[in-house]
Amino acid sequence: MPDNQLNTLSQSSLQDYIDCPRRFQLRYLERLSYPAVESEPALENEKHQQEGEYFHRLVQQSLIGIPDEQIGKLANSANLKRWWENFLAAQDLRGLKDLGGLYTETTLSAPLGNFRLLAKYDLIAIHDGKATIYDWKTYRKRPRNEWLTARMQTRVYCALLVHAGAHLNDGKPFEPEQIEMIYWFAEFPDEPARFEYTSTQYKRDWDMLLKLSEEIQSGLRQAQDNASSYPLTDDRQKCVFCTYRSYCERGTQAGDAEQAEAETEAEELFDVNFEQIGEIAF
Ligand code: SF4
Repeated sequence: MPDNQLNTLSQSSLQDYIDCPRRFQLRYLERLSYPAVESEPALENEKHQQEGEYFHRLVQQSLIGIPDEQIGKLANSANLKRWWENFLAAQDLRGLKDLGGLYTETTLSAPLGNFRLLAKYDLIAIHDGKATIYDWKTYRKRPRNEWLTARMQTRVYCALLVHAGAHLNDGKPFEPEQIEMIYWFAEFPDEPARFEYTSTQYKRDWDMLLKLSEEIQSGLRQAQDNASSYPLTDDRQKCVFCTYRSYCERGTQAGDAEQAEAETEAEELFDVNFEQIGEIAF
């Protein structure tokens, strides 16, 4: 039965809703666990995901001031070593600690229609009248900027910082023009993606978020009346790596991650869900 207690929305759940309403229903309302392997080779991809989570933790520990030599000892696989060395070599990131104004693993939230919109940021750096959102990515391929700019993560993170970030700015809401978002790719340290935010984008994004929340709310009502309103996506490409594909009768074989385009790989396979990251003892 659908869970009508759903009360928070996040960039992940909204992205799922846009990509495939049925996936949103199965994941966030039915809370169906993972019945199928997402991609082949399964073990290798799972390991990559875990390393991505671990890398997030290493960077966070570095930014809060734990000595890098100590952290470096924990980079104990080929991928982690390479990412960690790339991070150490990125002068602009290394310089952040000296500037101060760093908020790591910060959560912001605000009411959105009948829901609460919630986002967990890898890092928000505030100095010189500017707020920069950093997000660490451990994708094997570098997605295009056009794809990133349209992602819910970019839109939610920037809009929510305007909407709910006043406490980080002496009680005054940030102007959209003060905000920039940077995706830093551990495999491609010289090719970060930077997006400067504007008032026009903010208005467009917040209106879109409100509209989505209304749509989801009305979907919940219909589900309550047993008039399900969560159709399967028409884009069958979305099903290739989807964990629910056997459930939806959209194929049993997992897609081959090696063959996937950069955007598909990023979308379906290697995004780190902050809530899954465990603690690392230092
Ligand atoms: S298998 Fe396809 S239709 Fe089913 S939830 Fe996944 S993306 Fe949607």
